[in-house]
Amino acid sequence: MNTQNFINEKSQVAGIAREMANLGLVTGSSGNVSMRMPNNESEYMAITPMGVHYSELEDQDIVVVDKELESMESSGIPSSESLLHLEIYSTRPDVNAVIHTHSTFSSVAALSSGGIPPILDEMVIYIGGSIEVSEYAFPGSEELAKNVCEALGDKNAALISNHGAVTVGSNLRQALNVSILLERIAEIYSYASTGNQINPLPESAIEKERAIFEMKRKSL
Ligand SMILES: [Zn+2]
Repeated sequence: MNTQNFINEKSQVAGIAREMANLGLVTGSSGNVSMRMPNNESEYMAITPMGVHYSELEDQDIVVVDKELESMESSGIPSSESLLHLEIYSTRPDVNAVIHTHSTFSSVAALSSGGIPPILDEMVIYIGGSIEVSEYAFPGSEELAKNVCEALGDKNAALISNHGAVTVGSNLRQALNVSILLERIAEIYSYASTGNQINPLPESAIEKERAIFEMKRKSL
């Protein structure tokens, strides 16, 4: 394998990671971003490294690993949540990018087990419906990876109990857009939950929007 080929992917992952930090979805070195390597390298992923602050993150810091988390190059330790990323790629063939954030309102929503019901139209169209919270598991563990995949199901976002959020997409841009949308939905839900009566979306709307969500995924 020619490691020179990774320059483009590393630059894409680092670029999205920096954007994620600039948007305030993560601070310091928390959270992580990965992409599935394209075509015949698809059993590898490019992922942000452990412990590097986003303000100092350079393209060459991105680590390329295989399914056993063996690094394809000598330098860099992959993110502590690498098992989560690998589990998502193995259970969701439609997913090519994964973003894990510790954004504020998503983290608030991850403190209770109820998740976020389908309250906004775009939620069903771009995420697939309600946003579930995974069962609690220790950060970085295999159990966390399995629990989060269960909460994610066939949707594009899930909340990680007492921890944060994960979003997925067919590419990095799409996964970042879902992260931004998720944080906005969580913020709206947080304000709406402070005493107002919340009207859920009508079932008929959810059905139509869910059909759009499925059509978008099939067309990828
Ligand atoms: Zn985390």
